[in-house]
Amino acid sequence: MFENLSSKLNTAIRTLKGQGRITDVNVAATVKEIRKALMDADVNYKVAKEITDKIKEEALGQKILIAVEPGQMLVKIVHDELTGLMGGEKKDINLKGDPAVVLIAGLQGSGKTTFSGKLAQHIKKGGRNVLLVACDIYRPAAIDQLKVLGEQVGVEVYAEPENKNAVSIAQNGIEYARKMGKKVVIVDTAGRLAVDEAMMNEIAAVKEAIKPTEILFVVDSMTGQDAVNTAKTFNDRLNFDGVVLTKLDGDARGGAALSIRHVVEKPIKFISTGEKMEALDQFYPDRMASRILG
Ligand code: GDP
Repeated sequence: MFENLSSKLNTAIRTLKGQGRITDVNVAATVKEIRKALMDADVNYKVAKEITDKIKEEALGQKILIAVEPGQMLVKIVHDELTGLMGGEKKDINLKGDPAVVLIAGLQGSGKTTFSGKLAQHIKKGGRNVLLVACDIYRPAAIDQLKVLGEQVGVEVYAEPENKNAVSIAQNGIEYARKMGKKVVIVDTAGRLAVDEAMMNEIAAVKEAIKPTEILFVVDSMTGQDAVNTAKTFNDRLNFDGVVLTKLDGDARGGAALSIRHVVEKPIKFISTGEKMEALDQFYPDRMASRILG
């Protein structure tokens, strides 16, 4: 994960470690390399500039010039700034409510259905009774896919293959959950290949009708800066509560993980690192910063 970014950041920091004398000038040069590494990883220019300005200010402010181990000090500063950029503290999803309702949104192919299965398993392991609701009315295969995943993780799936109204399926699903004493309902919705008005209207209507306790926006981390733009569009419309970054097992460059929180002002709550149901982790900004720095 993020091998390129890790190696470039480390090269930049090593240059400073190798200097006999630390000066304003070589700190500035190192920080410039850090900025370049971030931008190469698809971090938005403004975000990269803002964070490297902070790193420079911290570095010079902390008297890195007279530090015994300036390289080590810089590693710590970069680590702390990356952690802050990604939101600082871990943020949990809100599962209050009877039942709690989690709405899953995102583009087609982002990994929504896979994530819904994983989240169901995660919540079930935490000791709660979960129901999955299949609201993708456009892709009949999506219902079957969710049923297969549900079976795999031992969670019931509510579906109405003949019903073409996502709002009523979601409402009926929640009603069913209530009747069956389920504590959490996960509503998997349809996604299109690109953001379009009809899709946004549909999911906004579902939100309005079921008033979810938590809306999670799922995004493919491999799509770089597009991931951040899509997140902005969904957030403007849905005001979601958290982000799920998928496909971090691929060769994502890191830009989405680093920029999304800062640009959209919503925390990343989960990361998905594979197709298997176990490949799900809660998102810890400090652990991710450590992984990025290698
Ligand atoms: P949806 O259209 O948003 O519901 O997306 P799907 O859940 O069907 O996922 C699209 C494809 O991506 C499927 O082939 C999944 O197996 C795959 N996928 C989902 N999440 C991950 C992940 O974290 N890593 C990898 N490598 N593949 C994933």
